[in-house]
Amino acid sequence: METICEKIAALGPDESFYSFEFFPPKTDSGVQNLVARLRRMAQLNPLFVNITWGAGGSTATKSLDIASLCHSQLNLTTCLHLTCTNMAKSVIDEALAKAKANGIRNILALRGDPPRGDEYWTPSESQEFLYAVDLVRYIRKEYGDYFCIGVAAYPEGYADSQTPEEQDPKIDLPYLVEKTAAGANFIMTQLFFDTDKFIDFEHTLREHESGLFKTIPIIPGLLPINTFQSFIRTAKLSHAHIPDRVMEKLNAVPSTDDEQVKQVGVEVLTEMIHRIYTETKHRVRGFHFYTLNLERSIALILDRSDIVKAPSRHTPKSNLPAASTVSIDTLIADGVKDIKLDAASPASTEISLAADPSWDDFPNGRWGDPRSPAYGEIDGYGITLHVPANKALELWGSPSKSSDVSELFIKYLNGTLDVLPWSEQEGLSPETKIIEDDLVKLNNLGLWTVASQPAINGVPSNDPVFGWGPPNGYVFQKSLIEFFVPEAVWLKLKNKLQNDDKLSYYASNSRGDFMSNMTASDVNVVTWGVFPNREVVQPTVIEEQSFKAWSEEAFAIWKEWQRLYPRDSATSDLITNIYDTYFLVSIVHHDYVNTGALWEFLQL
Ligand code: FAD
Repeated sequence: METICEKIAALGPDESFYSFEFFPPKTDSGVQNLVARLRRMAQLNPLFVNITWGAGGSTATKSLDIASLCHSQLNLTTCLHLTCTNMAKSVIDEALAKAKANGIRNILALRGDPPRGDEYWTPSESQEFLYAVDLVRYIRKEYGDYFCIGVAAYPEGYADSQTPEEQDPKIDLPYLVEKTAAGANFIMTQLFFDTDKFIDFEHTLREHESGLFKTIPIIPGLLPINTFQSFIRTAKLSHAHIPDRVMEKLNAVPSTDDEQVKQVGVEVLTEMIHRIYTETKHRVRGFHFYTLNLERSIALILDRSDIVKAPSRHTPKSNLPAASTVSIDTLIADGVKDIKLDAASPASTEISLAADPSWDDFPNGRWGDPRSPAYGEIDGYGITLHVPANKALELWGSPSKSSDVSELFIKYLNGTLDVLPWSEQEGLSPETKIIEDDLVKLNNLGLWTVASQPAINGVPSNDPVFGWGPPNGYVFQKSLIEFFVPEAVWLKLKNKLQNDDKLSYYASNSRGDFMSNMTASDVNVVTWGVFPNREVVQPTVIEEQSFKAWSEEAFAIWKEWQRLYPRDSATSDLITNIYDTYFLVSIVHHDYVNTGALWEFLQL
């Protein structure tokens, strides 16, 4: 199969193209449903698809298997992302060898997480790979021209090590020059919403004295706007500037109405594509979509845009049977051998891509439906503290005893600390403010709360605090709480919970010891809404599979935090102790009519 560069070179002078990025889903059912989604999205004729790579190789097997599936069964030109830091060199070697053996000819060569200091370097990691350029050189040395190699670029400057004020693409330019000179064939950018900045960046590159960027494909990375909250959060985390024009458009619709927000997002992206294409005089004619494993926004953009159209000659021919059952022997190494598209699962229903909202169209991070391919994805490529190391140290200092940690959680609740390692947003949401006193009490007792919601019983869907979804509906919530707690305290609380059938719980520790008073197939809907002319919508569910996936991640965040401190320091020892002896517990109270019930129960 041709490489990305060969395919671009073969396009006619007026032909544009687009590509899709997918990530390996967190749950097995998410993988099954991604296969169905990939098959549908292949019908949109992307020039190629990208499969991401979890930082440190955390998704190595899944990434490779999904990439191989795209290549060999869906006939899609496939680009595998590959990082090179914080993992053994053998993982890189295996990934490249397996990619080649499976016919994959495109690699996006990335650095990944910042390299660890000597303190945390383990002999299995190779010090040969400190930056993406090292990986580009290595691939060229080992594989010659077999792979078409892409590298990352940052139109607003690289964010992690600089404050937003210091961010400047010119600072990173020498490194992009180095990566390109080492053999990169195309450039793919970080997401952005400020079209002017991208256009300036493109001009700077094209005019660069090295001449390296005159004709190289520069492919802008575009993120569809799915919900208002996720848009703001992502822009903040990636230090992407939101131009006033975009904000004004979004502010013109209720931020709680996801469907209207999505429609504005489609308009914004369609306009960005149009401007980029015309103002770069078609030098930029390819557009990369960060799909987040969702399909509808993309389908709407392609439907609306005059620029991005499927080039007919690239129509892929799927080798998959049209029936609803697909067996892919190698897709998941961890026990799931047969990927079957469950005929009863919502994702296996063939839908018209740009028609009605699909079943998981409003992603809800780790609280969403774990069967969704988009389940759990909040911030991209793996466990992260969401802030650079120096900022993390400044924020959280060096706790040496558990009461210091309690203090941090309480500071977050009372607004004197913006973020915690587990927080999904800066500061408390207005609805959490309502239960702030109850939460502070729990944290004072050493129950470190990482998620919660108060009960509500039929609040209008446009309510400024609790509202979501289309107008003229009513929304409901059960109260829930999630916290880290020492094992001894948890076991006492568990006894109390056993005697009350109005409460359901999950608990797990870092070793994966798991406890619950539910069966594996039980599902707790904790947020639901009733709207005109549609079925009940349930965007937030809690069930075993998603809790287990989150618990693993929540404990891994402790380890990530620990990496900031020298080994054998008081903070490092404290975190080891917490990691080894605490449980993560999630409790739902079913009496949503009695809004104080959970907090009364937790008076320990
Ligand atoms: P580099 O090019 O190595 O640059 C990283 C930093 O080091 C920059 O500040 C650069 O200026 C500096 N630098 C580079 N070379 C040198 C040098 N020789 N000397 C001194 N400083 C230098 N992450 C994942 O884990 N998985 C993914 O699948 C993934 N996909 C991505 C896709 C895209 C399109 C983008 C934009 C990012 C992606 N990332 C992914 C995130 C990426 O791994 C991080 O942004 C990472 O921190 C930097 O990667 P890089 O390849 O740009 O690194």
